[in-house]
Amino acid sequence: MTLDYYEALGVDQNSDDAEIKKAYRKLALKHHPDRNPGNREAEERFKKINEAYSCLSDPQKRANYDRFGSAEGPGSAGFGAGGGFADVFEDLFGGVFGGFAGAGGRTRQAKGSDLRYDLDITLEEAVMGVEKKIKVPRRHRCDKCEGTGSKPGKEASICPTCEGRGEVRMQQGFFSIARTCGRCGGKGNIITDPCPACRGAGRVQRERTVSVKIPAGVDSGTRLRMTAEGELGVHGGPPGDLYIVIEVMEHPLFSREGNHLICSQPITFTQAALGAEIEVPTLDGNKVPLKIPAGTESHKLFRLRGKGVPSLRGQGRGDQIVQVVIDVPKKLSEKQKSILKEFAEVSGDATQEPKGLVEKIEDKVRHLFGSE
Ligand SMILES: [Zn+2]
Ligand SMILES: [Zn+2]
Repeated sequence: MTLDYYEALGVDQNSDDAEIKKAYRKLALKHHPDRNPGNREAEERFKKINEAYSCLSDPQKRANYDRFGSAEGPGSAGFGAGGGFADVFEDLFGGVFGGFAGAGGRTRQAKGSDLRYDLDITLEEAVMGVEKKIKVPRRHRCDKCEGTGSKPGKEASICPTCEGRGEVRMQQGFFSIARTCGRCGGKGNIITDPCPACRGAGRVQRERTVSVKIPAGVDSGTRLRMTAEGELGVHGGPPGDLYIVIEVMEHPLFSREGNHLICSQPITFTQAALGAEIEVPTLDGNKVPLKIPAGTESHKLFRLRGKGVPSLRGQGRGDQIVQVVIDVPKKLSEKQKSILKEFAEVSGDATQEPKGLVEKIEDKVRHLFGSE
């Protein structure tokens, strides 16, 4: 007896792929053996539905079937399962029926976990770039037991709870649900004589020295990825990645706003009033000259172009912003006092209006110079 595939799925010959897939899903779910335990009729229906779908979901097989009445083309009577069957099956039942489709799931290769390493660096290192050697603990296969977890010469015994399957089935209403076995953790066996080196884990923690090249321009929160330096993979899967998370430590003289470096430079009030040529420190330890024009107010900002932080993405670098702060002398000699009193009288200081509040330096830098 030849099965009519279109009839089996309840569709007609003009149905498109989406309609066929939809019909298949509906019927397969209805007649799935897990939902109809012990029902031979449903089992038979389920087989037919799958046979029909494996043919009609494959354009070549469907064309053959339409022309010759069989999926394989002329002269063939056999029907193989395959085509688009497996993937639909997985997304249909994967979530509900768990292990039905994927009995071999627990030995699947898996990528190792990613690791995170928090690295503190100085501002100088962030600005100039640096190469660091860090010690990263990661788990390796135990050499003593070759990863089995059992004492050398001993073998793990089959888990009595799941009888080696790694999963247990539970009946919940219509559904039979597969769960990972809690006793063996899905491995299917339990270690009775644990390896003394790894205490049965099969893996040991070992420190590895990894050399990290930190590019100039990083900031707190920058993440550097080192491919394949994470945990080793499972069952021959690829290793995970190592993420280095940068934290730039505070600097006694310099702060940072985007790619600008900010520093404070004290000047005397006579330098401010009369003008002067001073020297300011830069982050690389050198000093650069800075001209203070006569009549400079306290907290005025000066820009040293290109003395800031290089851009992490490509070219260019920020500036060094120097904020001059007028240093008021704490101790005055009698002569200094009398000169200043005379100066105050001449200037009429007592009648001058007080000035407004000074803007916060980071805001001022942002307003004046922008930041990345
Ligand atoms: Zn078990
Ligand atoms: Zn071991």
